[in-house]
Amino acid sequence: METADVPGRSVRRLGKGVFEMERKRIYLASPTMHGWEQKFVQEVFDSNWVAPVGPDVNAFEKEVAAFAGIGYAAAVSAGTAAIHLALKLLGIGEGDVVICSDLTFSASCNPICYEKATPVFVDCEPGTWDMSPDALRRALKKYPQAKAVICVHLYGTPARLDEIMDICREAGIPMIEDAAESLSSTYKGKQTGTFGRFGIYSFNGNKIITTSSGGMLVSDDKEAIDRARFLATQARDPARHYQHSQIGYNYRMSNVLAGIGRGQMKSLVLHRELKQAIYRTYQEAFADMEEITMNPMNPDGEANYWLSCMTIAPSAGVTPDHVIDALEAENIESRPIWKPMHMQPVFAGCDFFSHREDGSVGEDVFARGLCLPSDVKNTKEDMERIIGIVRGVFGK
Ligand SMILES: *Cc1c(COP(=O)(O)O)cnc(C)c1O
Repeated sequence: METADVPGRSVRRLGKGVFEMERKRIYLASPTMHGWEQKFVQEVFDSNWVAPVGPDVNAFEKEVAAFAGIGYAAAVSAGTAAIHLALKLLGIGEGDVVICSDLTFSASCNPICYEKATPVFVDCEPGTWDMSPDALRRALKKYPQAKAVICVHLYGTPARLDEIMDICREAGIPMIEDAAESLSSTYKGKQTGTFGRFGIYSFNGNKIITTSSGGMLVSDDKEAIDRARFLATQARDPARHYQHSQIGYNYRMSNVLAGIGRGQMKSLVLHRELKQAIYRTYQEAFADMEEITMNPMNPDGEANYWLSCMTIAPSAGVTPDHVIDALEAENIESRPIWKPMHMQPVFAGCDFFSHREDGSVGEDVFARGLCLPSDVKNTKEDMERIIGIVRGVFGK
């Protein structure tokens, strides 16, 4: 079957003189490579460092730490692995309570269960869609023995870190910052991921920069990061023979992927600027519609605008599914807001602290919200099409 490319369309010849045209798919957030990545990977191949160790892993760690303004970083196979290691380093074990943001991706809290600890979920608040300081206070009152707090910066918007840090400090509880979605976001001028005892980043395929899969654990505690590397390489004791005094993991990042990461780091700031432009374009395009509200920004921070999201006014008579279906019919990808953890069958037995007494904010955002296409490759024409389709659902 013959294919030919014309800008914005893929054309397939089905038979003599019969063509099928399909507009190119617009993605929610797909990987965007710029050429640097291949250069680094070529060097990896030339030097044969095709292993979960090598000069690019070390360099990538240094580059991410320098960008974030933090002392140390350990490159690992996924953001999830980084969260798991943070919990191990804090000595979290069976029966321990760990408090976690409720409106998030399950990767934030799954590692709590790897250690047979008990997750307790804290609602978001409407000003950021991140952890509610009020609900966190109430959770800690009931669970003063809690061993850690996992705080997520959802969709790239920094949480109310001053209040959350104060509460954690007062309670003497370490905070793990899940900055998987917020690499390059800042709070009062400081990078997210650098506030807690540990921070984690993700380089999964749809994140602001990607290594296809991968993650990073960061901290100012050198010993802890050294120990994370030890645990991530099967906890091998410093002996010539293979000796192990504890259980380890195979969590290190491949040197090939670290090469991709080093190339992607060169475009991180550009991606952030493009994402910001996408958010502003939506914001301006829907400014005249009281049916649509864009996801909130924290006035004390600068988001990376990883995903642009919208909520629909209850009076509009339109559901997120209507919008998602209308976009999908035009080969455009969008998706629902993360389903809150306290609504997940697998976490049904877990305790949950709501921001308000009369209902959960996360449940409301989930019921009325969706994530709009936020791919940095979106053209002006793509944006106009998306906006036209969304407005059309509302009869505008
Ligand atoms: C993507 C993501 C993770 C996990 O990262 P992986 O690299 O996919 O393991 C964790 N938390 C949040 C909030 C995420 O969006």
